[in-house]
Amino acid sequence: MNTCEFQSSCTYYNVLKEKSPVILRYIKEEYCDSSYSACARFVVSKAHGTNHVPKYLFPEDIQEACKILDELGNS
Ligand code: SF4
Repeated sequence: MNTCEFQSSCTYYNVLKEKSPVILRYIKEEYCDSSYSACARFVVSKAHGTNHVPKYLFPEDIQEACKILDELGNS
């Protein structure tokens, strides 16, 4: 199974793991263990590193990820 390479460093993933396993199961099915390249957090992490991913960024918020990439120069 393909899984997101940022699972150990993703704040969102790790907070859910600790606080909300039910929601984590859904997020894993939708993103972390399947379509992780569609995750807003993955997109920013891959382009600029996990340190540039805001705590508030939800996996489905690809629009906000695009804004962040624009601000960071999309390099
Ligand atoms: S897919 Fe997204 S939410 Fe899941 S571990 Fe990767 S960066 Fe975090």
